[in-house]
Amino acid sequence: MATLPPSVCVFCGARSGISPAYAEAARDFGPMMARRGWRLVYGAGDIGIMGEVARSAQQAGAPVFGVIPKHLMALEVGRLDLGTLVITETMHERKKVMFTNSNAIVVLPGGAGTLDEFFEVLTWRQIGLHDKPIYLLDLDGFWQPLIALVDHVIAQGFAAESLREFFVVVETVDALEKALGDVL
Ligand code: AMP
Repeated sequence: MATLPPSVCVFCGARSGISPAYAEAARDFGPMMARRGWRLVYGAGDIGIMGEVARSAQQAGAPVFGVIPKHLMALEVGRLDLGTLVITETMHERKKVMFTNSNAIVVLPGGAGTLDEFFEVLTWRQIGLHDKPIYLLDLDGFWQPLIALVDHVIAQGFAAESLREFFVVVETVDALEKALGDVL
């Protein structure tokens, strides 16, 4: 049986956001994945930053594994031309399949769905369910309010200091590549 390439799960927006920097970074993502021989695991849609990440990975020749619940196939324009496409019954199942098929998690700018996905893997890490590395790609300081919120939660005594150690903040795709290269 062939061994699977190291797999990077990307959580990110189903919209593109205001700053062009978000889509630009998403477009740099694919070449990084292909250069390193890594596989992209993502939400299988063709919209927003999510679509950009997948297109750039495909164009660069990186393997892509998409996971989408059947009720979002139309809304998120589920891609039928991915190397692997898994269609799930529920959102929970989607997150589980994405997580179990990945070695590391990267969070690009996104909205409530992205936050949900980030907090799920963070809380699983907090209670010792896994030790997969989690990276926040803090493009133009996008995630600073989230980091401040986590610091506030810790400062107010609702989480241990260690919560902050369960994710790593990187500011550029180059820095992300280096960080991932050290662990994959
Ligand atoms: P957003 O960050 O809101 O643009 O959403 C990014 C992705 O997260 C989209 O593919 C959403 O379908 C997905 N998403 C939204 N809510 C959830 C959830 N509760 N569980 C899993 N995925 C979700």
